[in-house]
Amino acid sequence: MPGGPSLGRPGAKNSLAGRISDDIVASVKRAADIVEIISRYVTLKKAGKTFKALCPFHAEKTPSFIVNPERQMFKCFGCGKGGDVFSFVAEHERVDFLEAVRIVGSAVGVAVPDGFERRGGVASHQLKGRLYELHAWAARHYARLFAEAPEAARARDYMAARHFDKETLEAWGIGYAADSWEALGRAAKAAKFTDAELVASGLVIEREGKAGYYDRFRGRVMFPIRDVQGRVIGFGGRTLTDSEVKYLNSPETPLFSKSRCLYGLDRAREAVVEGRRILITEGYTDALMCHQKGIKWAVATLGTALTRDHVALVRRYADRVVLLFDADAAGEAAVDRSLEVFADADLDVRVPALTPGMDPCDFLVAEGAEPFLARLDAARDLFEVKLDLACRRHDMTTSNGRARALDEFLGILAQIGNVARADLLSWPVAERVGVEREVVRARLAALRRPKRRAGDGPAAQPKAPPLDPVEHRILRCVLASGELVPCVLARVGLEDFQDGRIRRILEGCVSLYDQESAIDPALLSAMLREPELSAIVADIVLETGAGNWERELQECLDRLEARKRRDEYRRLREQAAGADPQALAAIQELHRRRAGRPPREPARELVPQEGEQGADAYDAG
Ligand SMILES: [Zn+2]
Repeated sequence: MPGGPSLGRPGAKNSLAGRISDDIVASVKRAADIVEIISRYVTLKKAGKTFKALCPFHAEKTPSFIVNPERQMFKCFGCGKGGDVFSFVAEHERVDFLEAVRIVGSAVGVAVPDGFERRGGVASHQLKGRLYELHAWAARHYARLFAEAPEAARARDYMAARHFDKETLEAWGIGYAADSWEALGRAAKAAKFTDAELVASGLVIEREGKAGYYDRFRGRVMFPIRDVQGRVIGFGGRTLTDSEVKYLNSPETPLFSKSRCLYGLDRAREAVVEGRRILITEGYTDALMCHQKGIKWAVATLGTALTRDHVALVRRYADRVVLLFDADAAGEAAVDRSLEVFADADLDVRVPALTPGMDPCDFLVAEGAEPFLARLDAARDLFEVKLDLACRRHDMTTSNGRARALDEFLGILAQIGNVARADLLSWPVAERVGVEREVVRARLAALRRPKRRAGDGPAAQPKAPPLDPVEHRILRCVLASGELVPCVLARVGLEDFQDGRIRRILEGCVSLYDQESAIDPALLSAMLREPELSAIVADIVLETGAGNWERELQECLDRLEARKRRDEYRRLREQAAGADPQALAAIQELHRRRAGRPPREPARELVPQEGEQGADAYDAG
C-alpha cells in the first residue's frame, strides 16, 4: 500500500491502531469486493443498488439477506447477522477473524504472511492451511496413481466395469491408494509434509506400541471429498477385495466432519440452486453416475444417516429434497431416521420407489436416465411413505394394531412446529385407520410436545440487551457523516458513554479518524474483530439514509451532557448525605455553576429543576 495511510504506525496511542497486522487487514479488505466474495458461498441477485439472497445463517423462503457493494457490508434482516467481508467468512466457515482474513486474502491474491498475528490460536490456523494443502496434494497423488500405476489396473477395471467413463473419473478426481503400508506417508514426507500434519489429516495412523506410522487407505479406489468451495477435505476409499470394510472414510479432522458434509455438493450446487431441488443418494457411485447421466443435482451422504446439520445445509439451496435409499430393510430404517431430522424442516421431501435389490447406480446403467427421472417424478411424500410403513408394521385388522399405527404416525407429526401443517398431514391417517378427524386431532394435541426443542431456529438465540438509544444515535451520526468525531470529542469523553459496545466502536472510530481523517465503516468493522460490534455497525450503516447529522449530533450531545450532569449531581448528593446544610448548599451551588446557570440564594430543596428537562426526557426515552 505505497503512500497509503498506515494503520499500524509505531507509537500509535490506541491499541486498535497499534497492532502490526492491521495494515494487512486493511490491504486485504481494500482488495476484496464483498459481493464477489459472498457470491462464492451464496447466490446473490441484484436488487437496485444492493444484492439480495436467502440468508445462509438461518432458514428462510424469502430473501432478507442483503449485501451493499457501496458500503461493503452485509446484513440479514431476518436473523440480525451483519458485518463486513471478514465477519461473513468467519461466520460461514466457522473460523475466527484471523483465519477469515487469510481466506479472503488468498481469494484476492493478497499475501497474508504466516504468524502475522502472534496472539493465541495461530498454530491451529496454520495447521488448517497445511491440511488443505496436504489434501490437495494427496488427491493429485492418488489420481496420478489411478491413471498411471500398473498396480492400479484392477481399480481402473473395477470402475470401468461399473460403466464410469474417463471424463467422469477425471472430473471427480477418482484416485487409487497403493496396496502398501507406507507408500502415501513416504511420498508425503518427500513433499515436505510433517508427521504431525499427516496424523492430523487422518491419512496416516500412528502405530500402537512402537514408533512409526502406516497409511490409512491401502489398495482402495479413492473418492476425494470436497467442501462447497471445491477444496478437498477428506477421502472415501472403496476396497477392491471382499475381505475388509467396503467403504472407509477419513476420520473427523479439523477440516472434515461427515455429518456436515454432502459428497458432490460442490459440483451439484449450481444445478441444485437453479431447480431449488436436491437428490440425496447413499453412495459415492450413485452420485457419480447421476452426474454422468446428466442428473447434476445429485449428492451423496458419507455412510452416515442424515443429520440436522445436513438439513440446514440443504435448506440453503433447495426447497425440495428427493431421498434415494437402497430399497431394502435399511431403506425403511432410513425413512424413520430421515423423518426425525426432516419432520420439522418445512421442506418438500420425496422418496421414490426403486426395484428392490437394485442400487441407483446399477438402475441408471441398466435403464438409463429417462426411466430413472420418471421414478423421481413419481416419488411420494415422505410422510405418505411413513404412513404406509406404520400401517404395514401393525396388524390393521385389530383396533389395538390400528391405534398403534396411529400413534406411530402422529408421534412424527407431533414434532412439527407448524400446527396447521401437522393437522393437514394428519388427515390421511384418519381415513387409513378409520377414525374421525376430530379424534386424530385430539390425539395429536395430546402427543404434541409442550415446547419446541430449544436451539432450533434463530429465535432461540439469546437476545443482546438493547443499545442505549441516545448513545446509539450519536454513533449513527458519526458513522453516517464519516467525519463528526472531533465534534463528539469537543463536548464529551469516550468514558461518558455507558454502553460498552458503543464505547468500543467509538474508540475504533476515533482511532480510524486519527489515521485517515475519515471513517470507512467496513474497515472499522474489520478492525473491531467482534461479530456483535460488526453487526451493530452494519445495522446502522445499511439502514441509515440522508440526514442533518451535525444538528442531530448536537441535540444528542445535549442530552448526553445533561445525563452526565445529573449523574454527577446525584453522586455528590449521595456522598454528602448526612453532611451539614452548609456543605449541601456548596455542592448545590457547584452543580448549578456546572450547569451554566446563575448563582442564587441557598435553596431548601435539592431536586433538579427546569434545566434538567433533557435528563428526564432521556430517562423516558
Ligand atoms: Zn439470516
